[in-house]
Amino acid sequence: SLLALAVKITVFHINDTHGHAWPFTDSAGNIIGGFSTVATMIDAERKVNPYVLFLHAGDINTGVPESDLLNALPDIFVLNRMKLDAMAIGNHEFDKPRDVLLRQMSWAKFPFLSANIYKDGKPYFTPYIIKNVGGIRVAIVGFTTEHTRILEGPNSEDLEFKNVIEVAKTLIPEVRKQADIVIALTHLGVGQGYSELYTTADQLAKEVPGIDLIIDGHSHTDLKQPMVVNGVPIVQAFEWAKVLGKADIHFEDGKVVKIEWQAIPVVQSKVVGKDESGKNIYQVVTPEAPYVKNPLDYFKKLGGAKLDTVIGYTEILLNGERADVRSKTTNLANLITDSMLWKTGADVALTNGGGIRASIKPGEIKIRDVLTVLPFGNTLYVLEMKGSELLKVFEYAATVPNGQGAFLQVAGATWKAEGGKLTEVLIKGKPIDPEKVYKVVTNNYMAAGGDGYTMLKGQKGYDTFFVMADVVVEYIQKVLGGKITSYDDKPRVERK
Ligand code: ATP
Ligand code: ZN
Repeated sequence: SLLALAVKITVFHINDTHGHAWPFTDSAGNIIGGFSTVATMIDAERKVNPYVLFLHAGDINTGVPESDLLNALPDIFVLNRMKLDAMAIGNHEFDKPRDVLLRQMSWAKFPFLSANIYKDGKPYFTPYIIKNVGGIRVAIVGFTTEHTRILEGPNSEDLEFKNVIEVAKTLIPEVRKQADIVIALTHLGVGQGYSELYTTADQLAKEVPGIDLIIDGHSHTDLKQPMVVNGVPIVQAFEWAKVLGKADIHFEDGKVVKIEWQAIPVVQSKVVGKDESGKNIYQVVTPEAPYVKNPLDYFKKLGGAKLDTVIGYTEILLNGERADVRSKTTNLANLITDSMLWKTGADVALTNGGGIRASIKPGEIKIRDVLTVLPFGNTLYVLEMKGSELLKVFEYAATVPNGQGAFLQVAGATWKAEGGKLTEVLIKGKPIDPEKVYKVVTNNYMAAGGDGYTMLKGQKGYDTFFVMADVVVEYIQKVLGGKITSYDDKPRVERK
């Protein structure tokens, strides 16, 4: 016939939601995000279009205490209700021990996909699925950044993260034979600034033919239009469900003829003015879907009482800004490392700046705030190290470029470096004695070799099972008397 059979499939996607199942307030006061809002947006399309898919490109875990406390059960519970079709495994799915991830997978009615994570020579997760959507065979293939092995330290140690390009080069042609369209659902990241050690989504598009669309996550990139590499559109929906990605894929006679894509801001209510008492007046933009909002409200109450407990008051900003804690001393980094020394009586405390995830604003300090700063559930790990071994830690720290999570924050010590070389390190004001045995406290992530601190792995020591966040709470209450008016922010690190 002269008339081609036309079908449109709409694929919605989110990524890097990190516990942000609930709407939250942005800097302008607008209420944005929220899976309840996303549900309304997707349902509007489902009413007029039978061919809708919904995908998540990884990192549902870690970032909002209400979710973290319940191991992301709230997020998964409502994603089931929203009929999520598939999720890619992100690196943060390894933040907690494996049994937590396996439990999450058992809660989910959708598959957790990754084709390049292997154990004992076989894929450990489901590599791909093929869905029949309006007679079109849609393949969805998952890939996970190889960087996970380094970023996640001990929790992914038993797994092999195969090179994404190598796996894709054999897998994609096989999948192509069984499908009309191949979508790669990836947690790889886009753009420059990435290392040669791991594959980015743009490299995948460049090196591996046969992929029609890459739906990506990991770099939290706020794309406004697809990034097109080698003719393949790569899309990403920023982070925290602030944005909903929407790809309209047009087929004629079973072949892809056009892909249109938009990044739609997820806005529940916006500020339209102020009342006489100065309070914001809101206007609803997208009503929340009750079948998602109600269970989320319930889950929020479950953890709420504990999280709302006020543990102190600060008159100053305790600085945990990402760029700062990954490049220099801050008052909050000092407070955290000081609490580690206080709790264990160690000579020196070492923690990675990348583990400090937020600031604490002036005002009341709640348990929630401390858990937002330290969401990983890390414990304090005590090591007995010879000075000569301890020196290697600082030599490595000196090589870490500013801005990386591995940046070394300390207490009981100061260190200086120039051009990536260690120039001075003092423990309690004195040079390291190579023969002396020091008591060192670090977190369990670094003790297992996380963030490249492989020299800590295998040292004599033990896990105290003191949770870092609990230790900080105790320190604020007992040592600082629950009131912070100022805090030491003298540089403990100097780098040129
Ligand atoms: P994404 O969500 O896309 O993975 P991210 O902020 O986690 O983004 P990076 O900016 O690369 O990614 O941060 C990773 C850093 O987070 C690591 O280098 C490390 O410093 C820290 N980190 C990750 N997992 C842990 C953990 N379990 N314990 C302590 N620190 C961690
Ligand atoms: Zn993420």
